[in-house]
Amino acid sequence: MSAIRDNLVRIRERIERAAYKVRRRADEITLVAISKTHPANTIREAHELGVRHFGENRIQEWESKRNLLPDLDATWHMVGHLQSNKAARAVRLFHTIDSVDRSSLAERLDRERQNQHREAGKPGGSFLRAPVGRMRVLIEVKLDSKSAKSGVDYEDLEALAKRIRELPGLELRGLMAVPPYFEEPEHARPYFRRLSELRDALQGEFGAGSFPVLSMGMSHDFEIAIEEGATEIRVGTALFGDRPRA
Ligand SMILES: *Cc1c(COP(=O)(O)O)cnc(C)c1O
Repeated sequence: MSAIRDNLVRIRERIERAAYKVRRRADEITLVAISKTHPANTIREAHELGVRHFGENRIQEWESKRNLLPDLDATWHMVGHLQSNKAARAVRLFHTIDSVDRSSLAERLDRERQNQHREAGKPGGSFLRAPVGRMRVLIEVKLDSKSAKSGVDYEDLEALAKRIRELPGLELRGLMAVPPYFEEPEHARPYFRRLSELRDALQGEFGAGSFPVLSMGMSHDFEIAIEEGATEIRVGTALFGDRPRA
């Protein structure tokens, strides 16, 4: 019996329980398996078990793994800090960039998406099966100015959202955040609630339903995130086990 299979069963139970507690449906919540540092075969195994969303945080690493997985039909998420000079590779390697935190990056992604669109008819093709439409993006919000390295500050969030919504190559769908780590997951609740409130404020400004995605919650705290409205949870360790230390 594979460890990943057992882990997946437990994760699905945890999702069910958390959703039930707040009268949400478990099928509103997408499991994004964070496969960074794990080999391509591990991704294949999770895919065989029905996982259809995967997240990686390094362009280089994902580029080498995806060459071993050309046949897999899944949604590939970039969840790590992205340098603008890697935007061209990012739009070709991922379906969604969940970590946009500045307008210069968004503008670069938009330009590269439009270039890719122009190339789409030419031979060579894209790794991504989906037709080259607008690139899905989420804004990463910095929930804690002391510990967080990436993410947009609260006060700049609305301006960034406004800018991204003007870019024809991108489709802004919601917000993502990584709260500080707490031994006691309950302590992360105010951060998750904050992200949810920021989303509500943006919807007040830009229209109901304009930010449907809240990507929040990781292996040790995703129940709390679900209780606070997460629609996507990003789970690495609980599914794949501990990551090898670099
Ligand atoms: C690594 C990572 C995760 C997964 O963390 P786990 O604690 O292993 O579940 C989630 N989100 C981001 C952005 C990550 O880099």
